[in-house]
Amino acid sequence: LLGADGRLDATIFEEITTLAVRTGAINLGQGFPDEDGPRIMAEAARDAIASGANQYAPGKGIPALREAIAAHQQRFYGLELDPDSQVVVTTGATEAIAAALLALTGPGDEVLTFEPFYDSYGAVIGLSGATHTTSPLAAPDFHPDLEALEAAVSDRTRAILVNNPHNPMGSVFTRAELTRIVELANRHDAIIITDEVYEHLTFGVEHIPVATLPGAAERTLTISSAGKTFSFTGWKVGWVSGPAELVAAVRTVKQFLSYSSGTPFQPAVAAGLALEQEFFNGISSSLQAKRDILAEGLRAAGLEVFLPEGTYFINVDAAPLGVTDATALAYRLPELVGVAAIPVPVFCHPEGAERTKSLLRFAFCKRAEVLEEAASRLAGLR
Ligand code: PMP
Ligand code: GLN
Repeated sequence: LLGADGRLDATIFEEITTLAVRTGAINLGQGFPDEDGPRIMAEAARDAIASGANQYAPGKGIPALREAIAAHQQRFYGLELDPDSQVVVTTGATEAIAAALLALTGPGDEVLTFEPFYDSYGAVIGLSGATHTTSPLAAPDFHPDLEALEAAVSDRTRAILVNNPHNPMGSVFTRAELTRIVELANRHDAIIITDEVYEHLTFGVEHIPVATLPGAAERTLTISSAGKTFSFTGWKVGWVSGPAELVAAVRTVKQFLSYSSGTPFQPAVAAGLALEQEFFNGISSSLQAKRDILAEGLRAAGLEVFLPEGTYFINVDAAPLGVTDATALAYRLPELVGVAAIPVPVFCHPEGAERTKSLLRFAFCKRAEVLEEAASRLAGLR
């Protein structure tokens, strides 16, 4: 995160993963699956490499992938997009977030996020020169507080950066909550940038894309990524879609961040986006079973568990074990019990960090036997 001195530090994911590797702990910190995604996609990437798709892709992405992204938005959400002018492929959602914020916000603007917020938001808002304002997501359900939200939006708000389903808190916002966000954006003429990388990872609740709500499409940039949906986090293929003028601004900045994104992965992701419904149903049901295994282990360890409605992550309150500093605990946990987790306060400004001081985030996108082993190690916390 951008520190008080304006310098960027190593990310918490980098730090905790390094610690997990050094101690041999089970890494439930950084969110990445321990099994590969669909074989048909891996084969498509391999075939693309073998057939010479190894030089620069077009800056905005290969046509087949832009068409597949538009077709996905139409098939799942009824959104109509022109693949040529309304879709840009990026190097993961991370680049999409950076390009959108750098293109559209700057000094004198406020960018509003919920808090806790995904770490790259704070860093890139800092790089853009805008001011980062926040509205809290509080226990036990970590949904928006609509009064606080209304108070946080003003005519200085240039962008509302939404993350739904929410990392780190695991909440999936309701239609009423999203509708209020859109109303506020309209009232104050703010754009909405919505990071929906966990769009297919929800457990019995519906994911509602912001762009589908009345009055939203013309001011909303939607970001997603192949990493989470297809369990290929290392491929770093993401995308942005929305109104042509906003997408063009993102594309202009993207040229100078990465120019273009990994060529052979693009046809493979296009194949993934066209997979049958059964695949998309399967990812959330298998993930839900994993969530439940870890939740039971965490409860048995004496932690208060907040069951997520979506994402890869369960949050717990360690206060019942007498913990008052989750960050200190997260740095000791690998040595203590052989499991790594992420402290929630690192996703906050100081006030939010105080509110979340005893919360830890555990990733459950791992094989059942790994989660069971983690659960038995965590029992040592009691
Ligand atoms: N946004 C959120 C909320 C995330 O959790 C992540 C990590 N998957 C990203 C963005 C970054 O995605 P990518 O790996 O595609 O850059
Ligand atoms: N999105 C992943 C998480 O929240 C990590 C991505 C990263 O390491 N930057 O755990």
